Amino acid sequence: MSLPVVAIVGRPNVGKSTLFNRIAGERIAIVEDKPGITRDRIYSKGDWSGQSFHLIDTGGLEFDDQDQVIEHIRHQAELAIEEADVIVFVVDGRSGLTATDREVGLMLHRADKKVVLAVNKLDHLKHHEDIYEFYELGFEKVIAVSSLHGTGSGDLLDEVVGYLPERKEEEYDEDTIRVSVIGRPNVGKSSLVNRLLGAERVIVSPVAGTTRDAVDTPIRAHGQDYVIVDTAGMRKRGKVYESTEKYSVLRALRAIERSDVVIMVLDGANGIAEQDKKVAGIAHEAGRAVVFVVNKWDAVDKDDKTMKRFRLEVEDHFSFMSYAPILFISAKTGQRIHQVLPKVKEVAEAHAHRVSTSVLNQVIQDATMSTPPPSVKGKRVKILYATQVAVKPPSIVIFVNDPELVHFSYVRYLENQLRESLGFEGTPIRLMLRSRK
Ligand code: GDP
Ligand code: GDP
Repeated sequence: MSLPVVAIVGRPNVGKSTLFNRIAGERIAIVEDKPGITRDRIYSKGDWSGQSFHLIDTGGLEFDDQDQVIEHIRHQAELAIEEADVIVFVVDGRSGLTATDREVGLMLHRADKKVVLAVNKLDHLKHHEDIYEFYELGFEKVIAVSSLHGTGSGDLLDEVVGYLPERKEEEYDEDTIRVSVIGRPNVGKSSLVNRLLGAERVIVSPVAGTTRDAVDTPIRAHGQDYVIVDTAGMRKRGKVYESTEKYSVLRALRAIERSDVVIMVLDGANGIAEQDKKVAGIAHEAGRAVVFVVNKWDAVDKDDKTMKRFRLEVEDHFSFMSYAPILFISAKTGQRIHQVLPKVKEVAEAHAHRVSTSVLNQVIQDATMSTPPPSVKGKRVKILYATQVAVKPPSIVIFVNDPELVHFSYVRYLENQLRESLGFEGTPIRLMLRSRK
């Protein structure tokens, strides 16, 4: 189920990022503490009245080919129009209505988008009448806020949530494996998808996805149904957008949301880039199963150690995802293409795998017998009982006498034991410690 997208637009200095941080709350700080997790600040998750959504601060997007402020804002607004379900248009209540505000307002009207107008920097009640001149922009929902003090943001979120689309039911049946193909521009994503389609001689009929401009491509191979989600987004060659790295990350985010398995394409000929790490981090955080595909292997000068070296490099860059298998392929020559879908199926099965409580506890017991949890300050850790509470990804609650006593590295150890023993290979596992005396 993919989350709706809310985008914040407005000219510089009106307080977009302050508002963004306000809505995103503490999430960003938490996310930044974890290794391997994206530090990208332009999007976060928001929650209000039991509804979750992705929040984008378009102010954080940078475009290569602009020096004019107005052009810059126009691009941001275009993106928001394209990507978002609801737009929060921020203006500065203290400086009054400007020509740029009017222009952005016009764009939003023309696009016929759901817009909530946030008149910001109204820090005191006595400023609140400054809101009236902004009605001229012609939006129905106009809310006075102070992002600095946090006032008005509740009312703002009420309106935003009121505009969110109904949550859609799952578009494909349970047995269909939803796959996204992710990677930087030019790593060979389209070539890979075309190869998969060609290689499998299958029913190929792009179907218009129910999500905005998404086009999904179904494939049936070896009796298994797959759907490659958002092939449109993948092929998209946005004139301006292609140049902005954060935009690519954003697109990936949406595709990842909609998939069970992420094929993360790396460029064997040109190496691993920082952006790859960000995108992979999103897939990991979202709890998707992942297959690394090192493409363009035909174009690599190889000896008998090259593959091993590259494998180590992948493991090193993506050390937080050691569960993900790595394939070396060429979309151009077709080398090892036939391994891709079977591998996707394998990790998808692990991702959806459910083990019985008795088997689970047997494995935990064996693991703790062979390597007992170390005592902390003379206190013994007791592992009492485990149960799997969810799939996709497999999520396991372990009851212990005191979660504080269990060292991070021991959790890692248990995770690896579970993965090896229980058929969870290729998928992240969520382990949660709960206290029970
Ligand atoms: P952005 O460029 O639109 O993202 O704007 P920022 O969030 O960076 O804010 C620009 C400036 O306005 C900063 O100095 C903020 O502290 C200030 N600012 C943001 N929100 C408010 C507010 O509600 N009241 C006041 N007085 N200042 C604010
Ligand atoms: P995308 O932007 O990730 O979808 O990448 P494309 O599929 O459009 O490929 C980008 C470029 O890389 C094109 O010129 C392809 O012909 C080339 N390419 C893709 N796969 C391979 C491969 O396996 N080997 C080689 N040598 N080139 C490839």
